[in-house]
Amino acid sequence: MPRPIEARIDLAALRHNYLVAKRHAGAARAWAVVKANAYGHGLLRAAAALGEVADGFALLDLDEAIILREAGIRQPILLLEGFFAAADLEICATYGLSVVIHRLEQLQMLRHAALKVPLPIYLKLDSGMHRLGFSCEQIPAARRELTALATAVAPAPVTLMTHFAEADAVGGECCINWQLERFARMLADWPEATSLPISVANSAAILRYPQTAYAWVRPGIMLYGGSPFADQEAESLGLKPVMTLHSNILAVQEIGVGERVGYGGTFVAQRPTRVGVVACGYADGYPRHAPSGTPILVAGEQTQTLGRVSMDMLACDLTDLPGTGVGSPVVLWGQGLPADAVAAAAQTISYELFCALARRVPVVEI
Ligand SMILES: *Cc1c(COP(=O)(O)O)cnc(C)c1O
Repeated sequence: MPRPIEARIDLAALRHNYLVAKRHAGAARAWAVVKANAYGHGLLRAAAALGEVADGFALLDLDEAIILREAGIRQPILLLEGFFAAADLEICATYGLSVVIHRLEQLQMLRHAALKVPLPIYLKLDSGMHRLGFSCEQIPAARRELTALATAVAPAPVTLMTHFAEADAVGGECCINWQLERFARMLADWPEATSLPISVANSAAILRYPQTAYAWVRPGIMLYGGSPFADQEAESLGLKPVMTLHSNILAVQEIGVGERVGYGGTFVAQRPTRVGVVACGYADGYPRHAPSGTPILVAGEQTQTLGRVSMDMLACDLTDLPGTGVGSPVVLWGQGLPADAVAAAAQTISYELFCALARRVPVVEI
């Protein structure tokens, strides 16, 4: 029998969540963001689940884009960091990819490549996050390059995009408005820009600020049933968990007051305690930083972890769950226990839990 751990991926929940994004986004089209192996859920699995429903797929790697095309995906595919070298451009053209352009050299490479048909461009403007994108000062140069590209090859279809740094923040519209204002100011001296399509919204913006659903939105975490907000649960947003991480109780230890559990003995029993040992550790992707008290489900009942997470195991408190024992089913996160709650206890976000799911964990689709 294999080690009793598996991640169950609910494909219907993924489709449901995509449609929630679409409902919030009105007439906008939605890139299903499937970067990082679909946030750990499996790229091809997610693409197949969304099938014809998705308007397009957004990811990072040329190789991943090729995998989608070779699997028969015909919708637009957007490379969120664009291409990394001139040699990538022929491949982008062959596979019909759209590219984010975030620096001038990329436009120059496009012009020199002289592709027969220009690639659709997402021109990324840095409206204040200071990660990727053109600054206000760089826009005239970008426009000159776009004109040169149009003359040398043909006009490329251009969409304007930016990314929010704090759309998930508690504090309301001011958390996005300062960036939207900068975005508008950046385009003030570019009259033709008013007729270009725009894409700005991630999950947080889609859910809280539907006015940011311009031509295209870019939902990521919400597709996988994670809440982008620290102050609002996924369920109340109408989202369903997609990944549920299951395991079992491997062993039970009965310990007395003052006995300690796990490496470093960070948990000290304050009462006679039944300790359940779960077949899941940080090598499975469970966060090692999750402290004692992190929520966990055993036989459908919520209890808490005890002591440090080991590589292959962690401990939990069965004292108040007398019906449980070796073989009792455990849910680490997912159905019945939001990944967001586990992530919050470990001082991270559900994005990181999902992406960290280890290769050794068998995945089953439900
Ligand atoms: C990852 C990413 C998204 C999706 O963000 P979520 O918070 O997961 O919805 C959208 N746009 C860009 C540019 C991204 O890199």
